[in-house]
Amino acid sequence: MCGITGFVGKKAILNTMNGLKTLEYRGYDSAGIAYRDGDSIVIKKEVGKIENLDKIINYDLNSTLAIAHTRWATHGVANKINAHPHKKNKITLVHNGIIENYEELKNKLDKDYKFESDTDTEVIAALLDSLYNKYNDMKTSILKMVEILKGSYALCIINSDIKNTLYA
Ligand code: GLU
Repeated sequence: MCGITGFVGKKAILNTMNGLKTLEYRGYDSAGIAYRDGDSIVIKKEVGKIENLDKIINYDLNSTLAIAHTRWATHGVANKINAHPHKKNKITLVHNGIIENYEELKNKLDKDYKFESDTDTEVIAALLDSLYNKYNDMKTSILKMVEILKGSYALCIINSDIKNTLYA
């Protein structure tokens, strides 16, 4: 079962990773983190243990917004591309669960989005990005998204337009 952490505030990378380590007992196949660095969202992922991810993270970086994930694959094998977080334009997110109507949604969204992974999760990121383009407001877009998604989902989301806020 996967784990999700997120943090807004000082030492966000360290606090998010420390949180993720406390969820290690749940079992997982890969791990990843997304954090804000200035105006960019940086994503790091590794297959296997959190310590593999740990080795490629710069803890000196002063980020104040981060989300992280340990994945238990349900859609797509355990590899770096399928590992979370997934990013589509402004939206970056991590997900626990299964989206039952992801194939139908993927078929609708693939004229505007290039999908790289085999996950159901990447479809959520594209859906939310498309809704945000339409409504230009995260709360409205998330509520619309919830009406469309079928299945189970715990999500932690950041929007590259919006500093120091995460949505869970
Ligand atoms: N269904 C998603 C995937 O396969 C999330 C799995 C999880 O809960 O870790 O990537």
